[in-house]
Amino acid sequence: MNIIPHSKPTVGKEESLRVVNVIESAQLAQGPVVQKFEQDFARKTCAGYAAAVTSGTAALHLTLLALGVGPEDEVIIPSYVCTALLNAVHYVGATPVLADIDPDTYNLDPVDVSKHLTGQTRAVIVPHLFGLAAEMQDFRSLGVPIIEDCAQAVGGTYREKPVGAHGEAAIYSFYATKVMTTGEGGMVASDSKGLIDRVKELREYDNVDKYKIRYNYKMTDIQAAMGLSQLARLNSFIENRRAIAEKYRQAFQSLDIKLPFHTSEHIYYRYVVGLKTDPEQLIRRLAGRGITCARPVHHPLHFYQGLKDCPQTEKVWRQSLSIPIYPSLRENEMKRVIAAFKDVYKGGNL
Ligand SMILES: *Cc1c(COP(=O)(O)O)cnc(C)c1O
Repeated sequence: MNIIPHSKPTVGKEESLRVVNVIESAQLAQGPVVQKFEQDFARKTCAGYAAAVTSGTAALHLTLLALGVGPEDEVIIPSYVCTALLNAVHYVGATPVLADIDPDTYNLDPVDVSKHLTGQTRAVIVPHLFGLAAEMQDFRSLGVPIIEDCAQAVGGTYREKPVGAHGEAAIYSFYATKVMTTGEGGMVASDSKGLIDRVKELREYDNVDKYKIRYNYKMTDIQAAMGLSQLARLNSFIENRRAIAEKYRQAFQSLDIKLPFHTSEHIYYRYVVGLKTDPEQLIRRLAGRGITCARPVHHPLHFYQGLKDCPQTEKVWRQSLSIPIYPSLRENEMKRVIAAFKDVYKGGNL
């Protein structure tokens, strides 16, 4: 029985050829290919400027620094997200403030965010979780800088304009299993030339006359070559994801589960279903049939902090399951997922 992984990159000949070209050119580190990737990426996401870095985490770190966020400042982030956000806020010495989510969309709840605003709030990081754009209009009216976390939503739109084009800055991740990949990698994009210039200055340590702490967060031309090829395929990736999501919707709509909040702009980075029960048993039984499912978020951040309660986050975390969805998921694999899920779930009677 071959195992269907929970997520998998979609890479092939196109990526190989471009990467080999870079290797044969012997210009391996950050150079002209990174520059081209930044330009093409900025154009695709309707941003004025972009700076490539080593990861989404590095992108968050440098964006916070470039916005001048530091000790004494507070940054609002959701509890229902990966620890990368918590780490980045700690890197700059600021205080992370956790807010709750909207249980229908899984995105940050702007009303709960507004309750956590203080005189120290210097930024809000708004992820477009699982590929569904957050209601940017509501966040923009809060009056603090918004960093859009587009790590799971690159290529998607909000009100017909690309995600990432609605806040002060946007960050992206090109980790192996994200929407598009460079193995590891990230990007900061913004309409502010000043902000992107500061990010570019901070990502490298060499050739400076005046010392200040800088980092080594440069992307290589090898990675950027892969990124260019993935960027060219991004629209087709998203079409594939939406087609699979539609098949899942048709197959699962008669079951007693909560399907993802559907909008025509959702790119379905994850296909998350809401159960009536804890997902652990379902995860084990599907694994027994070679199908790898997972909790979409490993641990809510407020669990680590043991401080503030986020009731919606907790409820969603207890009952959510993410099932395989990626452009390289073949038709017969998708059918196996559907058949196994229906069989194992049987209307919630586990
Ligand atoms: C993956 C991810 C990150 C971190 O990106 P890395 O490249 O793994 O550092 C940040 N935010 C969200 C929402 C992510 O999904």
